[in-house]
Amino acid sequence: HFEGEKVDDDLVHAVARIMAHADGARRLRVRTNADTPEDAARARRFGAQGVGLCRTEHMFLGDRRELVERLIVAEDEDAQHAALEALLPLQRQDFVEIFETMDGLPVTIRLIDPPLHEFLPDLTELSVRVALAEERGEVDERDQVLLRHVRRLHEQNPMLGLRGVRLGIQIPGLFRMQARAILEAAADRAAEGMRPLPEIMIPLVASVRELEIVKADILAVAREIEEEREVTLTYSIGTMIELPRAAFLADRIAKEAQFFSFGTNDLTQMAWGFSRDDVEASFFSRYFEHAIFDVSPFESLDQQGVGGMVEMGTKKGRKTKPDLKVGVCGEHGGDPRSIHFFDKVGLDYVSCSPFRVPVARLEAGRSVLLARSKR
Ligand code: PEP
Ligand code: MG
Repeated sequence: HFEGEKVDDDLVHAVARIMAHADGARRLRVRTNADTPEDAARARRFGAQGVGLCRTEHMFLGDRRELVERLIVAEDEDAQHAALEALLPLQRQDFVEIFETMDGLPVTIRLIDPPLHEFLPDLTELSVRVALAEERGEVDERDQVLLRHVRRLHEQNPMLGLRGVRLGIQIPGLFRMQARAILEAAADRAAEGMRPLPEIMIPLVASVRELEIVKADILAVAREIEEEREVTLTYSIGTMIELPRAAFLADRIAKEAQFFSFGTNDLTQMAWGFSRDDVEASFFSRYFEHAIFDVSPFESLDQQGVGGMVEMGTKKGRKTKPDLKVGVCGEHGGDPRSIHFFDKVGLDYVSCSPFRVPVARLEAGRSVLLARSKR
């Protein structure tokens, strides 16, 4: 029931009975998308059975943004190393708290997937600042260096640019630092008798080679920690499937992945070629008028196109690895109609924002009950 609000007891009992009925019937597990311990705790109260997506990019904003900026524009390895060393304890603490909250339940942590421009100063603003300083004869060397790098890294289409695994390959120390933070946090919690279950997830993978490269690094970090601490770590490594190419090559990608999670936000964007950041675009209303779709494909899964890729990717992945765990963590994971589709194609779980967890539980149950009543 709603936090802080007085609710009729009869209503609470009725809802609890309906939820119990749905939970008893459902096959799909329901996890949550949570980036903070607070969200994870709220979702647990709503019945989430794990974290299906912990996005890590927001953890690099605020006070830490400067460290990331330093990392990206570092001129040499020492400077990069220093920035990573400073980030490691902060990241470790982020994960310690989430593992504590989700004790005994799986937590899928996705390695950083930023559109790069969110971490860099705005090119125009910086150019103007440097030009004005030069005019005044007050040259700031740091700003000049920064400007050079921001120009070098500037992208016309950041969402199609140096994101996800691409950034991990460009700056390998970044993913290694995150893997270390996750696994050290898990080892710390395990030493205190908890049962952390980290699942390390790689974003924006398009080719099996990308996954092989990053996975080799993570495995090496894990071995280092096991030797340093004389422990055996429990963790898994998997990938997002959010590019059409990854869905088509899912049988090969599955060789290197212990789990798949469909990122239907990016998959929708890439399949339709609609920018997910411009869904209010002027032409969209015409698409409703002409019944090209009756609901935005970002809101409810386009079952033929994007859903076709989810179904194909799942089948291909499980052909290689019959026990491959498959979930979805795009916004569609909390949408009733989409949930029925995910159930039908045999996903293991959906993951959605904390407040949608009860609805997802309900719909996952309804999906089974409806299918039974039609038989
Ligand atoms: C997705 O693309 O569906 C996804 C979950 O990742 P993000 O929204 O963070 O790109
Ligand atoms: Mg994505």
